Amino acid sequence: MEKIHNFINGVYCEPKNGLYIDNYEPATGKVYCLIPDSDEIDVQNAVNAAEKAFPIWSKMTIEQRSDILVKVSKGIESRMDEFVAAESKDNGKPVSLAAHVDIPRAVSNFYFFATSIIHFASESHAMEGEGINYTLRKPIGIVGCISPWNLPLYLFSWKIAPALAAGNCVIAKPSEVTPYTAYLLGKVCEEAGMPAGVLNIIHGLGNRVGDAIVKHPKIKAISFTGGTKTGEYIARTAAPMFKKLSLELGGKNPNIIFDDCDFDEMLSTTLRSSFANQGQICLCGSRIFVQKGIYEKFKTAFVDRVSNLKISFPSDPKAKMGALVSLPHLEKVQSYIALAQEEGGKILTGGKRVFLDAPHENGYFLEPTVIEGLDYNCRTNQEEIFGPVVTLTPFETEEEVLKMANSTEYGLSATIWTSDLRRAHRLAEEIQAGVVWINAWLVRDLRTPFGGVKSSGVGREGGLEALRFFTEAKNVFVKY
Ligand code: NDP
Repeated sequence: MEKIHNFINGVYCEPKNGLYIDNYEPATGKVYCLIPDSDEIDVQNAVNAAEKAFPIWSKMTIEQRSDILVKVSKGIESRMDEFVAAESKDNGKPVSLAAHVDIPRAVSNFYFFATSIIHFASESHAMEGEGINYTLRKPIGIVGCISPWNLPLYLFSWKIAPALAAGNCVIAKPSEVTPYTAYLLGKVCEEAGMPAGVLNIIHGLGNRVGDAIVKHPKIKAISFTGGTKTGEYIARTAAPMFKKLSLELGGKNPNIIFDDCDFDEMLSTTLRSSFANQGQICLCGSRIFVQKGIYEKFKTAFVDRVSNLKISFPSDPKAKMGALVSLPHLEKVQSYIALAQEEGGKILTGGKRVFLDAPHENGYFLEPTVIEGLDYNCRTNQEEIFGPVVTLTPFETEEEVLKMANSTEYGLSATIWTSDLRRAHRLAEEIQAGVVWINAWLVRDLRTPFGGVKSSGVGREGGLEALRFFTEAKNVFVKY
């Protein structure tokens, strides 16, 4: 069986304890490779390597660092097919999604931060008659990047690229559930000429190797994307060490549809915002609120389109939906479908596990599921399910839908469909979310701030926000 390795000090290596974990292929339910079950010894080795590398990396000119990161971007691009196939196999997502979203966005992340660091400037503040302040922005040192399984390389690179561009050395941990493309990245970095120890990739369990990263005193900042509970634990652990923290956490996003929207555009985008990546995108709109005038029309059209979505094995180019990421996750999503029924919800379509033909008969496939008839305050409408399950709720007024939209503990993103621009702006201002799309979904400009409010996180990623996070500001005053 193939074994993947850690990437520490510029070389692929086994975990020091010699232990491995099974890696399952979601589309077959079978183990297809083994990943290191690393621990704090591997983290210590990575920190030692990063400490040695930091003076070299941080003292390089910005142009030299930028060149290397551009080469990483090009390196992924030149191995596009390999990365796409690996991501799709490891995660269960359709190959078309990995080819159009995941891997191209990882390429863009490296390219964007490789080039934006060249234009990154710090501030100066003149005090009339007294002197001038200028702000130095220095890299932090060694930073930890921990990412989830839903958009594996995309979110891994979203953290690593700005951290490296700003001159830091990185100890990174991908999700143990989807380690493969992070494993491939080591080779690309080596070929790009990145000095040994600048980027160290350690595989293993969150509560073992992830915890060791969070607790290590020499790792001065943690950028984490994942569940709210894990984020809470990380915040509690890191706070006494005064680490810098960026936490991108869960969501329960509203998709608000008014009578006056462009119906066809809304319908096809809502299909994607509900079920892309099997609903496993933190930005999916899982609570769909529809104004009463078009509720029945929307329900009929939406249910028809959803029930015709092609569920297939990920390498099928015609697949619109692939497998969920793991058996425990499938079971969690199924438990929410059962809960929705207990809470009085009616399943309009979906709800059942799908068994494909061999060799995919044990894959983790689930029908896209649409439920109506639930109170906006019930658990199904308040807790993050993170799967192909959406609820429909009718509303009459703007005030009513705003109250329902803002009722959860989360505040990551929101989508508003309307032709009334004044209403759109009004709602965008009132809605409790870090990202709002009006008549669109998942449009990303890498320069814009990204993150959530309430239990969806702390801090912002993206553009200058990320470069600011990964640097320490030092103000210097000079007297005239
Ligand atoms: P988890 O919180 O379970 O895991 C995220 C990462 O943290 C994984 O690499 C995991 O390791 C690691 N981890 C787990 N426990 C610890 C710990 N004690 N210390 C340090 N690291 C730890 O999230 P999921 O992987 O299940 O991802 C799904 C969640 O991510 C959803 O809630 C989703 O909303 C959220 N998310 C948020 C986004 C945002 O931008 N706000 C974007 C994408 C997802 P391992 O899994 O290997 O054990």
